[in-house]
Amino acid sequence: AAVHELASTTGATLVVGGTGYIGRFVAEAGLALGHAIYVLVRTFGPHVCPSRAATAAALREKGAIILEGSVDDKYFMEKTLRENNIHVVISAVGGESILDQLSLLDAIQAAGTVKRFLPSEFGHDIDKANPVEPALSLYNRKRRVRRAVEAAGVPYTYICCNSIAGWPYHDNKHPSKAAPPLDRFVMYGDGSVRAFFVAGSDIGKFTMKSAFDSRTVNRAIHFRPSCNFVSLNEMASLWERKIGRTLPRVRFTEEDLLAVAKENEIPSSVVAALTHDIFILGCQSNYSVDGVKDVEVSCLYPDMAFRTLDDCFSDYISCLLPHQARETRPSAPAAAAAVDQLAVPPAT
Ligand code: NDP
Repeated sequence: AAVHELASTTGATLVVGGTGYIGRFVAEAGLALGHAIYVLVRTFGPHVCPSRAATAAALREKGAIILEGSVDDKYFMEKTLRENNIHVVISAVGGESILDQLSLLDAIQAAGTVKRFLPSEFGHDIDKANPVEPALSLYNRKRRVRRAVEAAGVPYTYICCNSIAGWPYHDNKHPSKAAPPLDRFVMYGDGSVRAFFVAGSDIGKFTMKSAFDSRTVNRAIHFRPSCNFVSLNEMASLWERKIGRTLPRVRFTEEDLLAVAKENEIPSSVVAALTHDIFILGCQSNYSVDGVKDVEVSCLYPDMAFRTLDDCFSDYISCLLPHQARETRPSAPAAAAAVDQLAVPPAT
């Protein structure tokens, strides 16, 4: 093993929120890398839903150990951490549960087994970016957790993975779950501001690598793959090459995004506020990574490649055209012919 891997890795990893959108990528990457992965699942109350149960079952099938409980139950968590000798805790709870992590932090301190804590971040550097409300309130909750972790003296790593690879719909919380458009592109501003896009599987893989790396202790890790630093204009052209035809562009201005943010609907207004920060203000690239408190993940693992947006977009084509995908990747003309047969709303 590389010398920078955590000296004592016999203990297990607990993924909190492993049945969620980001957490599942993390849990699956941990299992693929051969770690002992525990996943905390809530099996009671208003949160229970069949799709989460199916995700938990799929993770169990791959070797995860499912624990039932809630992260804000301090005594249960303390006991769980100690009894299972948990060394690494990775939290991927959603925006509404960010402050539940304060109880988790208490439990981590009391249990004494945890050598690294990764609180739920998985976006921008919340100490550098300043989005409009209601995203700012989300950042303030995440900042509160950061300050509590630092004050507690628990070794931490903050994952700043930027945007998950997918078409960035301003009204969709989970962009990689929806294919890029087939009718028209909604372009924010002039479409020229660039952002970093990272495949979900890479978010999982590099999060797990960082969690077990002595070089990442008490640092923020920034995912900035140069191959996926693109503007909406560039993404639109890439998708057009995949589907073999051009689509109209519809402008969504800064004022339009701010108006949606101002409606204060959760989560859509949070997503609109973040879309404004990314594609109007350029929050992902208007600062430099100093290499001291902030580290670029490619500097840590120069030999590990990121999946390209081109590959991710090919995945969407494969989903749209499942029969062809089984054999080979469809060519652009084949994709265009098949895409034409799909039910596509008329462009307006
Ligand atoms: P989801 O809502 O998809 O999943 C949250 C998970 O946390 C669920 O499994 C949920 O379980 C679990 N959870 C919540 N509260 C508790 C609790 N008290 N005890 C135990 N489990 C709990 O979240 P996301 O994946 O959307 O968000 C995770 C992080 O990623 C957030 O910090 C978010 O801001 C960020 N993010 C980043 C994106 C990007 O593009 N970079 C995109 C989306 C999110 P249950 O089923 O019981 O509710």
